[in-house]
Amino acid sequence: MERFMNVEQYQFVKKQAKKIANAYANTNDKNVLQAVQALVMESINEKLIGLDEDSSSIVKQIITIQTKEQLENFIEKIKGYVTPFEKLTEKELKKLFPKDKKLKVPDLKNVDWTEVSYLSWFDSGTNRKYIVYRNDNNIKSIRGVFSQSSKKGICTICNQHQSVGMFMSSKKGKAVGTYVKRGNYICVDSTVCNENLTDFTRLTDFIETIND
Ligand SMILES: [Zn+2]
Repeated sequence: MERFMNVEQYQFVKKQAKKIANAYANTNDKNVLQAVQALVMESINEKLIGLDEDSSSIVKQIITIQTKEQLENFIEKIKGYVTPFEKLTEKELKKLFPKDKKLKVPDLKNVDWTEVSYLSWFDSGTNRKYIVYRNDNNIKSIRGVFSQSSKKGICTICNQHQSVGMFMSSKKGKAVGTYVKRGNYICVDSTVCNENLTDFTRLTDFIETIND
């Protein structure tokens, strides 16, 4: 079995599959349904370039979706073709944040690595939010002070309208002893954010502007 999708592509296909199921739930109009299917296929072809015939025929089954059950079966099926986020150990995470002597790490057993492009957790003791992801086999990480809120806004990482909080990071400024602070709104719930994240470059851009 060839794993022909990364997590971001998988989340994208999942979103498209939901569009089709939603269309079926809302209309019987054949023309509308066909138009939705055509748009979905077009956007998938743009997102998943260069698939071989076998992989392509698996993805194409998306147009057979009508019911919620078929949607769930389809998602379950394509999940098997995803290259997951390569697992991280507690030890690796601790190494990423050497300044945090008492770093609290999430329960890694509960992470579904095929669903996440990045790993994130919040330490309510210190109000810090941690973000870790892999890019070209390098592990990248940032941490920031996170103010939770019940506010809705556009998340910098996934670009969707969600419950967001302010992620405030600081780094050393050019002059000795100075710090530059940067604040961005990002999703409170990183599981939701990962589901919404269908453009990985948004994540990398976000981290790079903080780290540059
Ligand atoms: Zn988000």
